[in-house]
Amino acid sequence: MNMQKTVHEAIEFEGIGLHTGVNTRIRVNPAAADKGIVFTRADNGRQEIPLSPERVVSTQNNSALGVNGNKILTVEHLLSSLYGLGIDNAFIEVYGPEIPILDGSAKPFVREILNAGLEDQDQPKKYIQVMRPVRVEDGDRYAQLDPGPEFRVEFVISYDHPLLSYQRREFRFADQDFAREISPARTFGFYNEVEQLRKMGLAKGGGLENVVVIGEDGVMNPEGMRFKDEPVRHKILDCLGDLMIVGTRIVGEYRGYKSGHKLNHDLLVALMSDKENYQIVEAV
Ligand SMILES: [Zn+2]
Repeated sequence: MNMQKTVHEAIEFEGIGLHTGVNTRIRVNPAAADKGIVFTRADNGRQEIPLSPERVVSTQNNSALGVNGNKILTVEHLLSSLYGLGIDNAFIEVYGPEIPILDGSAKPFVREILNAGLEDQDQPKKYIQVMRPVRVEDGDRYAQLDPGPEFRVEFVISYDHPLLSYQRREFRFADQDFAREISPARTFGFYNEVEQLRKMGLAKGGGLENVVVIGEDGVMNPEGMRFKDEPVRHKILDCLGDLMIVGTRIVGEYRGYKSGHKLNHDLLVALMSDKENYQIVEAV
């Protein structure tokens, strides 16, 4: 039987937040079976923030969770790591307003969590099984979930830039190793949008050490891309993290066309809005 998992021991991460520019420390602690993934602002009241689409307070260039004015920005890369590694329960203490961006990917989270080890628990895993198609759109962008025998992602990105005019990739846990194929893919952004983001109070901690910056003539980072299709891989990484906010893993097929944090969030809200759309199942 497929049992729930938590981390074997507490793991700490520290670093600058991509959007706030604030240096923050977090601790990922083991948690009991059926507790789920729970965040807390350990520097401010310690109120618990369990995963739920209702706790999403911003989807502007990141996914932020919050309750009663306590906000935690950029949870998606850490959540993606937990999704990818099969971790069901963890208590995450955050000593600041944002999860550290580290190198812009999920690789450092995955490496340290695997170093600490995972622990099987005494309860079977739970899943949300998609029972009928759910789709959200915004212009030509869409995100959709269809019933299917396992979790599968198909993602297409298309930007008005020769380097990123079309990238498509599929991901299934059965075919690919999340740690090797998806977790190293870094956040990316366009150089000509940096000014605009900064004016909006975002990307204050961004730089070539944590973002793949794409300029008119190509990638500006001296080391180049980690994969030829690193951007669409990162969108799959983000997608797993955004979907984890529903509280547990999904059994079904996700398709995204130019999707992002907002559409992924809208998709979860649409999925949960009607009990006919899904059912909670236990691993057998
Ligand atoms: Zn991301």
